[in-house]
Parts: sequence; C-alpha cells; structure tokens
Amino acid sequence: MPKIHLLPADDATNGWLKHLPARQPKPALKGTARADWLLIGAGFAGLAAARRLAQNRPNDSIVLLDARNVGDGPSGRNSGFAIDLPHHTSGDLRHPESAKRALRLNRMAIDYLERHVKAHAIDCQWSRQGQIMAASAALGEDQLAHFHSMLETLGEPYEQLNRGAARALLGTNFYSAAIRTFGTVLMQPAALVRGLADTLPANVSLHENSAVLSIDYGKSVTAMTAEGQVRADKVILCVDGFAPQFDIYRGRLFGLRIFASITRPLSATERQEMGSAPEWGILPAARFGGGTLRYTQDGRLLIRSSYAYKPSMQADIATNNRIAHIHRRKFDARFPTLKHVPFEATWTGFLCLSKNLAPGFGRHQTNVFSAVCQNGVGVTKGTQSGILIADLASGIDNPLIADMEAQGQPSRVPPEPLLGLGVRANIAWQGWLARSED
Ligand SMILES: Cc1cc2nc3c(=O)[nH]c(=O)nc-3n(C[C@H](O)[C@H](O)[C@H](O)COP(=O)(O)OP(=O)(O)OC[C@H]3O[C@@H](n4cnc5c(N)ncnc54)[C@H](O)[C@@H]3O)c2cc1C
Repeated sequence: MPKIHLLPADDATNGWLKHLPARQPKPALKGTARADWLLIGAGFAGLAAARRLAQNRPNDSIVLLDARNVGDGPSGRNSGFAIDLPHHTSGDLRHPESAKRALRLNRMAIDYLERHVKAHAIDCQWSRQGQIMAASAALGEDQLAHFHSMLETLGEPYEQLNRGAARALLGTNFYSAAIRTFGTVLMQPAALVRGLADTLPANVSLHENSAVLSIDYGKSVTAMTAEGQVRADKVILCVDGFAPQFDIYRGRLFGLRIFASITRPLSATERQEMGSAPEWGILPAARFGGGTLRYTQDGRLLIRSSYAYKPSMQADIATNNRIAHIHRRKFDARFPTLKHVPFEATWTGFLCLSKNLAPGFGRHQTNVFSAVCQNGVGVTKGTQSGILIADLASGIDNPLIADMEAQGQPSRVPPEPLLGLGVRANIAWQGWLARSED
C-alpha cells in the first residue's frame, strides 16, 4: 500500500484569495465511504474530471478529495491565463500538426470552462481579452519571430505592435515589440476554481482538507485520510506534481516553484498612467526572461516571474521575500511612475513538468487512471485532460482522446542529485541568457 510521504501544504499567501469573500469549505471526509469513483485532487484537472464523469455517469457516485481548500493550490494561485495558442511548453511546435492538436485541445477546454462560467454565473472576471506576447530586447524579438511564423502557419489572426503601439495600449514604454492574439481568456483563478467546485453535479461529493495519506490499488481502490477512508471501484489521480507519491510516473516528473506578486487596485489618477486597454495580459516572448504581467479588471497589476527547484514542494516565506525584491525591480522598470504602488501579496506555487513535455494522461491498470503533469499551463491543459480522462474511463469515444495520446508519455528524468543539479543549472543558465528581457 503506497504511503504518501509528501503532502501539499498551504502557506496562506495566495494574493487572489485576499480579494474574495469568505467561503465555507466542504466538510472533510469522516468515517467510511463507498463510491463508484474516487477522484483525488480538486484543481482544474480534478474539477473537470468530476463534472464530466458525473455527466457521463449520472447514476454513479463520485467522491472527490483534496488535501486543501479549493483555491489554495496551484489552480487558485496562477496568473489567470486560459491560453488557447500552443505555448512554450506544448511539445515540439516545429511540427504544425502538434501545434494544431494543442490548439484544438486548448480551445475545447476554454469553451467548456466558458459554458460553465456562464451557466452558473461564476463571478471570476472571465474575459476573452486575448494575450500579448511581448519582447524588450533581441532575444525576445527572435522568439517573437518564431511565434509569428507559427501564427502564419496556423492561419491565426494577430496584430503586431511596435514600441509606440504597445505603449499606447499598455501604458509602458518597456516593450520593443509585441504580438496580440485574441483567443486567450483572462480571469481570477481562485474565484473560478471555487465557482467550479461549488457548482458540481449532485452525484459528486467533494471533501476538502482531506489529504490522502495512503492508497491501496486492487480490485477496488482504498484511500485513507486522517479521519476516514474511501473504497471505490475506480480511481482517477489529478494531483499534478504529487503523482509519484501515488506510485505513478516515478522518475519521470519534476516540479518547479514559481512566484507572483499583486498590487492593490490603482487609484483613478494612477489608472490614467495606463494605456487604452481596460485590462490586459502579457506573456514573455523569451520563456525565462521578463515575466508574465496582468492588468486586472479591478485595476491591479500582477507580475509573475522567477523559477526555483524545490523537490520538497514546500513553500517558505524567506524565498518569497527575496523574490518580492526581484518583482519590485522588474515592476519599477516597466512602470516607473507607479514605483510608490505597493504589492499586497507575493506568493508561490508548484507546477509539474516532464522532460519531453508530455502529459501524464492515461490508464495505468484496469481501474487506475491519471490526468497529471500539465507542464505549467494547467488552466487549459488540466481542464482538457480532466474532461478526456473522464471520457476514456467511462468508455466514451471522443476523438480528442487521440490528440491527448499523440503527445506521448513523460520520459525518464535522471535520478537525484543529477536531476536537481541539471534543473538548477538550466534555470540559472536560461535566466542569464534572457537577462536582457528583465
Ligand atoms: C504563480 C503561478 C502562475 C501560473 N500561471 C498560469 C497561467 O496563467 N495559466 C496556466 O494555464 N497555468 C498557470 N500556472 C500553472 C497552473 O496553475 C497549473 O498547471 C495547474 O494548477 C495544474 O492544475 P491541476 O489541476 O493539474 O493541478 P493542481 O492545481 O496542482 O491541483 C492538484 C490538487 O491535488 C491536491 N493533492 C495533492 N496531493 C494530494 C493528496 N495526497 N491528497 C489529496 N489531495 C492532494 C492538491 O492539494 C491540489 O489542489 C501557474 C502556476 C503558478 C504557481
């Protein structure tokens, strides 16, 4: 029976949660439960899998467990981009067929999320604003040229912005070139996942603060929590980087820690410093340089940058404080007239990668399935893998399952300490190469 040695822990720093009304979490699991299905992990993947499974199998009982409150994990603490276009971590984009596949899957996930946001009136600043891929120096401009040729190949609409046009739109003189595309959605991620969790179908029982401490795979699957246990016919693991704890993809996944900071809402006078767009989202053209930025509907500025390798998957305030200084420097370089605007919060979250950027999607035994390893783009990738694993597990013939499977399976990574040395060296080297974009 695999015992879970690493558990997710909430460090109570998530800046998005500070702006939301208090919410009553669903009760922790107590006593013994019997279910047709057990789902573990209530992020984008687990929430999509639970909802889809409930629709596919309206008479089945589904138990969904999460170690934390919904919204405390990475799904509630990301930058809030539901990205439609193939992103840096979408596999080998030199092949148009891979790019088209990623686009099909991403758009399916965005449409699915949008349907539920509208149907349940989830108040999460959902907006089809699109994204702005931006560069500030030669390295980023070079990457932007690749992005441009991908858009041409895909026949996707876009708008090219020079420095003046970017300044007029965004209110910063920092970017020398940018490309605006139109399919990405911006939103408040913690509000979205909470909304999705609070509107699950009636045959799903969600238990928060119910960490699985051990799991027994057999003809039926039994998972133990501190105060209860669930026995189910089938299990779907949606725990992203914690998958190796559950004995799947051991030696094939690794986690990165990334960081975000958010300001208070700008005042009416400060907002006059901003450009013509009422809200926007910038992604860095050079993956390891610059940073992701948002100007939110409620007038806050968010910056997301910096990577760290931490296999313990536990956050610490000292590193957050150090990164807050880096964020400050980058923020001030982009918005010198807003240097006085303080950050309200700096937080961290863990994301899961595979070396070949393949998802951890599929069936492991007759009754064990997974939708993990979203390669850092989990709003769309988590949602699509959740939907499609529910279809696969319930025997629904969905042609998009072939698109998921065509991405392959996570390849092996070297053992520790080689893995740590390699990842840390790569972060440092790529960061140094991309320093001109900072
Ligand atoms: C700062 C930051 C910015 C980001 N920005 C973006 C962005 O703009 N767009 C984007 O697409 N992605 C972004 N990401 C990545 C994205 O958040 C993740 O890829 C996504 O959350 C993965 O979704 P998931 O549902 O697969 O996993 P998670 O959101 O990690 O959910 C897995 C759940 O499993 C639970 N779990 C783990 N172990 C156990 C256990 N033993 N028992 C019970 N439950 C368990 C966890 O508590 C967790 O809630 C960002 C991430 C961070 C940290």
